[in-house]
Amino acid sequence: MSNHSSLVGGSSAERFINCIGAAALGRSVPGSGTSPAALRGSALHYVMEELLKPDATIQPRDLIGDVVELDEKDAEGNAVKVELTEDLVLMTIKPAFDWFEQVLKPDEYWLEEKVEFKGAIAGAFGTADVLYIKGDTAGVVDWKFGENIMVSAEDNSQLRFYLAAAMQSEWFYDLTMGEGIRTLDAYIVQPAREYRTRKAEEAMSNIASHARYSYEELCHFHADLIFAKKLKDRGDRTLTCGKWCQFCPAKPVCPAWSQRGSEAIASLKKVPVESSIFKSGPKKGQVKVVTPAVQSKATLALEADDTIRKHYMEAVALTSWCEAIKKYVTERFSTGAPISGLKRVIHRESRSWIDEDQARNWARRRGLKSVDYNTKLKLISVSQMENLLGKGVIKEALVKKTPGGTTIVSDNDPRPSVDDVTSSASTNLSNILTKES
Ligand code: SF4
Repeated sequence: MSNHSSLVGGSSAERFINCIGAAALGRSVPGSGTSPAALRGSALHYVMEELLKPDATIQPRDLIGDVVELDEKDAEGNAVKVELTEDLVLMTIKPAFDWFEQVLKPDEYWLEEKVEFKGAIAGAFGTADVLYIKGDTAGVVDWKFGENIMVSAEDNSQLRFYLAAAMQSEWFYDLTMGEGIRTLDAYIVQPAREYRTRKAEEAMSNIASHARYSYEELCHFHADLIFAKKLKDRGDRTLTCGKWCQFCPAKPVCPAWSQRGSEAIASLKKVPVESSIFKSGPKKGQVKVVTPAVQSKATLALEADDTIRKHYMEAVALTSWCEAIKKYVTERFSTGAPISGLKRVIHRESRSWIDEDQARNWARRRGLKSVDYNTKLKLISVSQMENLLGKGVIKEALVKKTPGGTTIVSDNDPRPSVDDVTSSASTNLSNILTKES
C-alpha cells in the first residue's frame, strides 16, 4: 500500500484547500521520479525512527560510515543507497536526536504513526514522524532534512493535518482532549543549516520551529478539508495561485500561472512617456509602445516605489514559475519524453588558452603589442584575440575547447539535435490536457 493518500496528505493539504483544481490538473502531469534530496530525506527519517525506538541501544556516532538501502530503485534497477557520512551524522542526525532527547524529552511517544481522517474525507491520511505526550502537553514533531528552504511550524497546514487527523483516533483523543489538553504543540526540527551557522549549544535550542494549535483551530481546518472535497466532488476545478503552488507538480503547465505571466507582460506594454527619458518621439503624457529593454528602464525611472515593489514581487513569483517550466522540460527530455517542437542541442563550446605564455609569444610574433593582448590582469580571451586578428588565424594548438553541455532550443535552430528520438514522436502534453478537460 502507498505511503501517500491519493486524496490528500500532510504535504498537499494546503494546496488541497486553497486550489480546488490542482489535484485534477496534477493528474495530467507525468511524474518526475523521486529527487536525490527526497531520497536522502527518506533515509534520514528511517534512521531517526531506528535511533528513537524505545529499545534502541545505538547512538548517532555509531552510524558514521553506514549505508541505508532504500526500497526505491535507481535507473539500473538497483536499490538506492544513502551513505551516512560523518558530516550527515554530526550536522544533521545527531542534532535532531539530541534535541529530542535533551530538549523535548517526552514522557511517551509514537514513531512514524499513521494518522487518518474518517467520514466525509475518509481516505485522507498521513504519517506523523512523532506524536508525543509530555506532562499536560502533547503534540507532533516533523523532521525536515532539506537545507535550502527553512520551514516554519507557524501557520503550517502539514502540522495541522497531522494533529487534526490524530484527533480522529480515539486513543489520541482520549489522551489529549479527554485529559483536558485543548492546545497541541507542533515542532519542525530542521537541524542542518542552523547547526552549521551557530555554536552547538546555542543551535540545539534553535533547530526547532514551534507553534501551538488549539482544538477549535484544528476543527476549522478539518472543516476546510471537507469543504474543499465537496467543491471537487461537484466538479469545481478553479485554480488559485498562492504560496501553496511552491511544490505543485502541475505548476509548469498551470493555466493560472500562464495567465498571470501574460497579464504581467501585458501590464508593461504601454508606458507613459516622460520627455526626460525619450529625447525624441512622443511628448510627455502620451503613450507609446516600447521595447522590453526601454520598458524596464522607463518603468524603473517613472514608477513609484510601491509599484516597483509590486513588480519585483511579481517578478520573483514568475521567475519561480519559469524555473519550474525549465526544470519540467529538462526532466521530460532526460526521461525520454521530449516536448514536440523543442530539441536538445550541444551548447556552444567554450574556448580558453592552453598556455597563456605561449599564446602571448605567438601574438607578439603576429605583430601585436603587449597592451593589445593583455588586460590589466591577464591575457585577453580567445574571442577578443580573434576580433583583433581576424577569424581562423589563431593556431589550433593554442586553444582548448570545453564542451558546453546541452541546452533545449526551438526545433528550427540550425544546430543538430543530440537525441535519437525525434520531437515529433514525443508526447504532446497539450493534447493530453485537452483530452482531460
Ligand atoms: S500551480 Fe498553483 S494554481 Fe496551478 S494548479 Fe498548482 S496549486 Fe493550483
